[in-house]
Amino acid sequence: MRLANYAGRGTILAADDHGVDVYKASGGRFGPDMTGLYERWEEFTAWVSGLSDVQADVVVDRSLLLSPSPMPRQVFAIGLNYSDHAAESGFAQPEDFPPVFTKFQTCITGPDTTVALPEGGNTDWEVELVAVIGLKAKKVAEADAWDYVAGLSIGQDISERVSQLRGPAPQFALAKSFPGFGPVGPWLVTPDEFPNPNYLELGCSLNGVEVQRGRTSDLIFSVPALIAGLSATVTLLPGDILFTGTPAGVGVGRTPNRFIQPGDTLVSRIQSIGEMTQTFVSARASN
Ligand code: ZN
Repeated sequence: MRLANYAGRGTILAADDHGVDVYKASGGRFGPDMTGLYERWEEFTAWVSGLSDVQADVVVDRSLLLSPSPMPRQVFAIGLNYSDHAAESGFAQPEDFPPVFTKFQTCITGPDTTVALPEGGNTDWEVELVAVIGLKAKKVAEADAWDYVAGLSIGQDISERVSQLRGPAPQFALAKSFPGFGPVGPWLVTPDEFPNPNYLELGCSLNGVEVQRGRTSDLIFSVPALIAGLSATVTLLPGDILFTGTPAGVGVGRTPNRFIQPGDTLVSRIQSIGEMTQTFVSARASN
């Protein structure tokens, strides 16, 4: 199933541009908002699998798509989870577990947006596979972890490098939580839709030039390993978002450094999911 948050309403997609309104098709049993769907994910997906003869009568205007999980109670983000990115960042590859930080919930947006560049900052791109949690997860075994994932989506872990390096040690949460710094979308794709959800090509292009390309099979800690590791400490909740880390090719890893400028367009894509587009303006222009 591909499930979109279309203008605040859970919508099962029949194609990129039309779908089924969950609330209407279920006679009010599920929806209309997405957050409630994650709370009853098993019940909801069982209902979907029994659906037949429904009209995909919602015409989807892509500009109205919102984040597949718009109000996650927790957002987890993983650092240094591809060895080529750890190397370009000047860090050793993590061995026991990678660095974990949060992107505060207010930075999460839908897939196609205009983002204001913070003044005096160096704003950078990080395309990432995002997993949305579908079941409460506590001390989950790695072998069972996919059962706890509602689906996968694309994320951009947009990062401001000056704030990230402010202070005696790098700090990630603030530097990665400016307004609009967490676009997610364009929709949720359930794990059963992928031939192999552990083997997806991902990448992004700046002004039409590819700057990152990787494969999720190169993740040092796979989605199941991350869920097992995180849920050993923290209880993961339905609707929580997990950014899984970025491959090589970020601007701060380049010589000379390259950062996003006003007027730039960033297109992020993941195989079998789709793509999303950010355009950037100066903070002054957006006030
Ligand atoms: Zn990241």
